[in-house]
Amino acid sequence: MTESTIISNTANLEKYLKLDQKGSIIAEYVWIDGSNGLRSKCKTLKKKVTDVKELPEWNFDGSSTGQAPGHNSDVYLRPVAIYPDPFRLGDNILVMCETWMSDGKPNAYNFRHDAAVIMEAHKDYEFWFGLEQEYTLLDFYGWPYGWPKNGFPAPQGPYYCGVGTGKVFCRDIVEAHYKACLYANINISGTNAEVMPAQWEYQVGPCTGINLGDELWMSRFLLHRVAEEFGAKVTFAPKPIPGDWNGAGLHTNVSTKDMREEGGMKHIEAAMEKLATRQKEHMSVYGEDNQLRMTGKHETASYDKFTWGVANRGASVRVNRACAEEGKGYFEDRRPASNADPYQITGIIVETLCGKVEG
Ligand code: ADP
Ligand code: MN
Ligand code: MN
Ligand code: MN
Ligand code: MN
Repeated sequence: MTESTIISNTANLEKYLKLDQKGSIIAEYVWIDGSNGLRSKCKTLKKKVTDVKELPEWNFDGSSTGQAPGHNSDVYLRPVAIYPDPFRLGDNILVMCETWMSDGKPNAYNFRHDAAVIMEAHKDYEFWFGLEQEYTLLDFYGWPYGWPKNGFPAPQGPYYCGVGTGKVFCRDIVEAHYKACLYANINISGTNAEVMPAQWEYQVGPCTGINLGDELWMSRFLLHRVAEEFGAKVTFAPKPIPGDWNGAGLHTNVSTKDMREEGGMKHIEAAMEKLATRQKEHMSVYGEDNQLRMTGKHETASYDKFTWGVANRGASVRVNRACAEEGKGYFEDRRPASNADPYQITGIIVETLCGKVEG
């Protein structure tokens, strides 16, 4: 298969997308597989759905996704959130799902379940999360988009928030993804070109509690799906190119009601003391290959030691200057890697700040 044989004919597709569906709608069920990837399949429903509770459970072959053994392969899909479908339009929807086993236990890769339990138990804290998703766009052969075929672009410097040919690559994909997120009611708060060419960021949030994980996973689905139409690959690898090229993170901005109110700074300081005692536990769910990224260079902190500071991009946690001056606001955990699971990140933060819950 070559690059040119995989480009689909989206102009022809337009004609069919406009056809009347005669009252039926299409629901695209989306779930997280056994290797931090996304899968989806779709189903016809006889009428429009306005509440996730109206949707039927479904299932899939977990032995084909690394989520179940062949002799007991049925994995169940339980809908947890619905979004308007920016590809099919109309009343068609995207459905975020949890994965469950036939014995009534969550699938081994269903990290949402525990996170939702702990957030429900501590809902009085009114957590808000805003995540900065960095990612890199690759060509069909897996090399960063727009980079010279057998070499490297000029050193980093002109690319971050860059404008102009040779400074940014694939702005069309980034724009398409932004609009698709807005259409789907994803709380996308912005986007920018990153330090390494072909690397980008978008932010999702602030979202309350478990919604952050749902929306961020759906935004990743949209990104893969949009990039597919442009023949580009998306990688969330935290250090896609070794050497003097920035890695990719998933900075996690966090606040509770107390932190956002007058005198909030003392609650942020108390949170820092708690985070300092659980560096190892946090790093264990902050993404694979994160040690390749967290070298202490390229605006990262040390992998092993917790530090925090005002306006310090070399610390594990940064408190922004405005927050320190106003004495209230939020903090930014800079440790999570771009490929980390937002359910696990937000779950362990609530656990560390508020206490464990048996569930
Ligand atoms: P940076 O300066 O680190 O690049 P960004 O502007 O990219 O920061 O992202 C900041 C994120 O913080 C946004 O996703 C935003 O939704 C989130 N955020 C803003 N206020 C709060 C808050 N009070 N609690 C949690 N997250 C917040
Ligand atoms: Mn089949
Ligand atoms: Mn940012
Ligand atoms: Mn960034
Ligand atoms: Mn940041």
